[in-house]
Amino acid sequence: MLDSSRREFICNLGAFLALPLLQAQEPDLILYNGNLWTVDEKLPRAQAVAISAGRFFAVGTNDEILHLATGRSRKLDLVGKTVLPGFIDAHSHPAEAGLSHLRMVDCDLRSIAEILKALRERAQKTPKGEWVLGFKYDDTKPLENRPLTLQDLNEALPEHPVFVGHRGGHTAWVNSQALKLAKLGKNSPDPQGGKYDHDSTTGELTGHVREHGMDAFRAVIPANFTREDHREGVRLISKMMSRTGVTSVTDASGSPEDLFAYQEARDAGELSVRIYCHIFHAFVGKMLEAGVKTGLGDEWVRVGAQKMVCDGSISERTARLSQPYIGRPDDFGILVTPEDQLYEMARRAHEAGWQLGTHANGDVAIDVTLRVYERLQKEMPRKDPRFRLEHCSLVNNALIKRIHDLGAIPTPFSTYAYYHGEKMKEYGAERLNHMFALRSFLDAGIRATQASDYPPGPFEPMMALQSEVTRTDSKGNVWGPKQRISLEEAIRVGTMNGAYPSYEENSKGSIEAGKLADLVVLGRDPFKEDPSNIVNIPIERTMTGGKWVFES
Ligand SMILES: [Zn+2]
Repeated sequence: MLDSSRREFICNLGAFLALPLLQAQEPDLILYNGNLWTVDEKLPRAQAVAISAGRFFAVGTNDEILHLATGRSRKLDLVGKTVLPGFIDAHSHPAEAGLSHLRMVDCDLRSIAEILKALRERAQKTPKGEWVLGFKYDDTKPLENRPLTLQDLNEALPEHPVFVGHRGGHTAWVNSQALKLAKLGKNSPDPQGGKYDHDSTTGELTGHVREHGMDAFRAVIPANFTREDHREGVRLISKMMSRTGVTSVTDASGSPEDLFAYQEARDAGELSVRIYCHIFHAFVGKMLEAGVKTGLGDEWVRVGAQKMVCDGSISERTARLSQPYIGRPDDFGILVTPEDQLYEMARRAHEAGWQLGTHANGDVAIDVTLRVYERLQKEMPRKDPRFRLEHCSLVNNALIKRIHDLGAIPTPFSTYAYYHGEKMKEYGAERLNHMFALRSFLDAGIRATQASDYPPGPFEPMMALQSEVTRTDSKGNVWGPKQRISLEEAIRVGTMNGAYPSYEENSKGSIEAGKLADLVVLGRDPFKEDPSNIVNIPIERTMTGGKWVFES
């Protein structure tokens, strides 16, 4: 607080200087009577917090904080509600997901009949011959207990090319019109790092394509999004995320258009989550020429790491594993980028001061990626490079040691044990004890994060907490119980640990004086909840930068 002579002195300095200084010293808002879990080791629990100019100003007991109120401070009685720092989703795809929600059919439905109905409805509004696109299809969820087929799509949509992407984003299902437009037939060779599935008896294409097998379709699907569409997509997704208590997100594979869209949404006051935007490697050359590197930006939109991809997906069972998938003795998954190519991509960015983030799911892919990082750090040592292992799903003790020694950061899937449980039998119970390995990471002193990878995984932080604490799916099956962590640890993973990989541990991740005022108010206390019911805790309010961006 200012004493009166100092206040007078500041006032005499003139309005321009005095106003911001005084604002910074007087709380705009005081939240009191709360049950605050601050994730600040110096003061883990508190009752009240004062907020000024978008930042936490003071944290403490009701008495201490209410005492700071001035005439212009608003006060909100939290009536004992639990408050946590805003959640940080360290790996997700917001801009792309927003555009998908805007334009595509959401195929997150529980039967093939419903999916075909939704696609048909879209076709009725789409001129003949134009693409009908679906996303968030999940082959293991439909009641029919079988995947979508080319025949399903041909029958339901005979006059439109159709492309239905898996929610994992690494595989897709198409119809015959789509194959024709992509100029693919039974004799087309598989592309490098991809597959076109064939019928085992006739040899005909089945319309199921994997990894780089999707490129031929992407090349002919018009991406006619306007500048408005991009901004609208960001507005939509940031609203969806704010409702769940997320206040910061890493876009794990941004393009210059996405980066632009985030800025436009921010300028229009429509961005309610902070964005750390990785840039897909193919665009980094351009940005290097413009003098851009990791860290450029502000507290709302910042340039992240260069993003590369080493292998396939966990939810689509294409991750590159050292042991085959259960039930498919010849299938070890797909390595998308060979090591020498990965090294070349990474070297240029590392040398230019970019952080690196590589998608590596399987133990083989993590080994390859670590080898590239270790080699770079040996040849061109950089201080505090914070190498990122995006997903880092299946590990072993040797890999954990290397991750620790390199100071690398894994961003394992937070909601998969709960949400994608039915897929886990293809990995097997034993292997699951080494997947999404938060217990092992934390025990080794590695700062692993919370990450949804949305659309592939749901982004609700309450689901992440439940999944990490119980390792139990929605049907009650347990997947990898050795990797369970405590609720307190899971909250830290979702908040403080998420700030570190974007070099923002001094500005976010905990409720601490001086940090950005990002927090979430919960309807019930998760510490008093049955762990198998945390997912149902309602989110009452979310604050980003001192403003309520969601109120229930
Ligand atoms: Zn991703």
